Amino acid sequence: MKGLKNKNALITGGSSGIGQAIAIRLAQEGCNIAINYRSSPEGAEDTEEMAMQKACGDIENCGVKSLLIQGDVSQEEDIIRMVNTVVEKFGSLDILINNAGIQIECPSHEIPTADFDRVIGVNLRGAYLCARESIKHFLSQNSRGIIINISSVHEIIPRPMYVSYSISKGGMENLTKTLALEYANRGIRVNAIAPGATITPINQDWIDDPQKKAVVESHIPMGRAGTSEEMAAAVAFLASDEAAYITGQTLFIDGGLTLYADFREAWSA
Ligand code: NAP
Repeated sequence: MKGLKNKNALITGGSSGIGQAIAIRLAQEGCNIAINYRSSPEGAEDTEEMAMQKACGDIENCGVKSLLIQGDVSQEEDIIRMVNTVVEKFGSLDILINNAGIQIECPSHEIPTADFDRVIGVNLRGAYLCARESIKHFLSQNSRGIIINISSVHEIIPRPMYVSYSISKGGMENLTKTLALEYANRGIRVNAIAPGATITPINQDWIDDPQKKAVVESHIPMGRAGTSEEMAAAVAFLASDEAAYITGQTLFIDGGLTLYADFREAWSA
């Protein structure tokens, strides 16, 4: 896609699922990729191997570079170190993908405060701090910059038993819009994707159970869960110059999940 070759991208949570697919796709498009992970260096190494294979095939030193960076996005000092490392090793940062995310299931009246803070700290505060540090860098270089937040359909669909997750993604919508507006005239575009149910390790409990999977898919108008690669394709588009006039938007990629499937048939004759 136009404008991605030789760009430097940092992907948080690049060791698994959607983040892994995004890193691979961006490398395939010619980006240098910095793969952040928190607890799974093996996952990050797998991402790197698959990304370099897609980008370069059998050619050695094809020009695409990669980097693994351990760091917890709920820790400010880790984020500052991550962004500084990318700039130091790649020379600059052009694209930030705020993908790292967690969820904790619990009735809303029973959530331990530490669990609530943890989800918000990773999904929302972490995304903001990564954006803040990246924007500082974009402005200091007087360069263009791209931020893509990986939100969720729960940006707009309430999710009982997961209130901290729902709040974090609802907040992400406003984070996307506010930053987009604030920096639109300084060459920085900020957008989000909102995946629906996607086949990744975060959903392992229903992916591995055919009955549970059938229940999940029965709620999706297109009748199936999405793939990480389908999410990554939209991210590549939004990060590319093909999307040069798009900012402040959330693109829902959900097989129709947000289309109020209950209205497919008339409720009364
Ligand atoms: P996943 O397979 O569980 O991967 C989560 C990634 O986030 C892992 O790479 C993990 O790193 C990283 N991570 C978690 N906490 C972190 C932290 N504190 N600092 C840095 N990295 C951290 O999940 P996924 O399904 O790909 O989800 C990715 C994003 O998509 C999330 O924001 C999620 O909310 C969103 N999303 C997913 C779905 C879905 O159905 N899968 C739907 C809507 C939205 P380590 O493994 O190294 O710890």
